[in-house]
Parts: sequence; structure tokens; C-alpha cells
Amino acid sequence: MDKWEYSIRISKLPSGVHHYDFQVTNSLKEKFESQLVNYFDVLVKVQLRKNVDFIEAVFKMTGKVGLSCDRCNRPYDFQIDTTHKVLYTFRPITNHNDDEIIFLEAQTDYLDLSQEFYDFICLSIPQRKVPADCPMEGCPDLFYNEQEEEIDPRWAKLLELKNKED
Ligand SMILES: [Zn+2]
Repeated sequence: MDKWEYSIRISKLPSGVHHYDFQVTNSLKEKFESQLVNYFDVLVKVQLRKNVDFIEAVFKMTGKVGLSCDRCNRPYDFQIDTTHKVLYTFRPITNHNDDEIIFLEAQTDYLDLSQEFYDFICLSIPQRKVPADCPMEGCPDLFYNEQEEEIDPRWAKLLELKNKED
């Protein structure tokens, strides 16, 4: 991929709010050699608010990625609809909210967002990848064991305890 495909040039950016649209495609898959995602088709709307010491970024991500079912390996589309905030700062800060914080060198020219795009998309993918319509005809595991859907008995105990405390 073009080295700066998912980047914003911040060195010449005036203070204030700026908007950018990025279409995330398979070049992201190639960059991170992703085994998890078959394809990327996600629109990322980025809002930057640049200040002297920091840049606030909001990422609104919508679209879909291709996954493979953990049960039968059939490819399926998974909808992405997620929002994340990142605070890029040029100097260490102490008081902050729950936003992710990334330190930048003062002379940073381009802000490469590809890692953030990849991380935020992967974060919204469930650990267990099974589409709602599985098992379906053609699934080699039609007779899958219902047991696997049950909660691990050790967790069940903990949940019981937790519910009692509540
Ligand atoms: Zn399946």
C-alpha cells in the first residue's frame, strides 16, 4: 500500500477542527497480514481538533468486514459500526478521561492512522465468530454439540456469587 494511504499531514495543519474520510480496503489487510479478516470495506470518518499541545481525534467507523465462521469456516459479512476517540499529545499529560492517549514527537509530519484503524476494527469483532444462521445447510457441523454454547461451570459459579452480592 501507499505508505501514507491512511495518514494525515499534521505539521502544516492550522489549529481548529478538520474532517477526513478514509475508505479502508484490503491494503489494510496486506499491511497487517491479517488472518482474522478476509476483507475490509469500512468507511472511517475522522474528526481532528488540533490544539497547540494535543490533537483530539474521533473515529466513526461504518461498513463491513469479511470473516470466516469458527464452526464451519464459511465466509460471512460482519457489520462494523463503532466510534473511538484518541488523544494525540505532544507533551506528557496527567489529567485525562478514558480516551486512548498516544504521544507524538513534536516534529511529527504525518499522523499514520493505520494501526488505529486496524485495532478499532478488530476490537469490534466478537471473539467467537459464528453468524446467526449457522449451522445451516452445507455446514459440516450441523450436529454440533449444544454444550459448547453453555457457560463454563467455573464462570457460572463466579456469576452466581456476583449476583448474590448485587
Ligand atoms: Zn458456520
